[in-house]
Amino acid sequence: LQGMNTIEGENLDRWVKQCRPLGTKGRCAEYIPALGESNLLDLGICIITPEGVEIKSGEWDVPFTLQSISKVISFIAACLDRGISFVLERVDVEPTGDAFNSIVRLEMNKPGRPFNPMINAGAITITSLLNGESPEQKLHSVYELLEKMIGRRPTFNERVFQSEWKTANRNRALAYYLKESGFLESEVEDALEVYLKQCSIEVNAKDIARMGLILSQNGFDPIQKKQVFPKEVAKLIKGLMMTCGMYNASGKFAAFVGVPAKSGVSGGIMASVPARYEQETLFQMGCGIGIYGPAIDEFGNSIAGVELLKNLAGEWDFSIF
Ligand code: GLN
Repeated sequence: LQGMNTIEGENLDRWVKQCRPLGTKGRCAEYIPALGESNLLDLGICIITPEGVEIKSGEWDVPFTLQSISKVISFIAACLDRGISFVLERVDVEPTGDAFNSIVRLEMNKPGRPFNPMINAGAITITSLLNGESPEQKLHSVYELLEKMIGRRPTFNERVFQSEWKTANRNRALAYYLKESGFLESEVEDALEVYLKQCSIEVNAKDIARMGLILSQNGFDPIQKKQVFPKEVAKLIKGLMMTCGMYNASGKFAAFVGVPAKSGVSGGIMASVPARYEQETLFQMGCGIGIYGPAIDEFGNSIAGVELLKNLAGEWDFSIF
């Protein structure tokens, strides 16, 4: 396995080099002004196996904000806090095929239960369900789970938070609509504060690779050797990641990469490669993959990151199908 580290590391370097120029074809998420300043040509990746082997390339250690990847964490935390059935009564598990911040279906799907927790309407609802009254208490659930998964307390990017807080008109509109239809268990501003603060938690590609690894082992952390959350919750969120995790490009991602993944507009992709027993593959026991590439495509996914994953899925036969 140590040998694999160097041979496959060279392989990875080659793919990163090949995909990096794609960054110029995308844009940073300028609707959050602070994210507009990222370097379009950054591309980093970290793969972690259950044995603890780390294969890294490019800007894997550049910090970036979780953005929508935090939706996975808050969903798991809400399930731990309130139970799966309570959570699913308030947010459905159907993909929409609409943009992540779309408002159109809320009124169509009367009485307004959001379609899934991976779109903003669903994620804002989920944050309101977390244990505690105040935004601080609710955020505590998110931080606690994250710390257990990545083994340290992540930093917080106040600048990104302030930048989005001031420009979050569409998320405010979603939250007001949800409040009016009775799905929000907090006040609008409190729910938004929790949601936008969880989006501004700062990690790197290695951190999200660890998260992807724990998901791939159904909630068991093979590094710290402990069950972080129940298998039942892991299966549920992986189903959601597979069908909704890459927004309205989830179908293409399932077809051409074929593993559960979650992206964020800051350019992160957390992918979880499940164990495969039917044939010998390099990552047969599964692995977690973290990617950072801040230039995003029209769907809000890292343009070079998706291409990198497509190539790796082909080379190492990742697809679960
Ligand atoms: N904070 C971002 C938003 O609400 C997260 C969206 C994303 O990563 N897709 O718009």
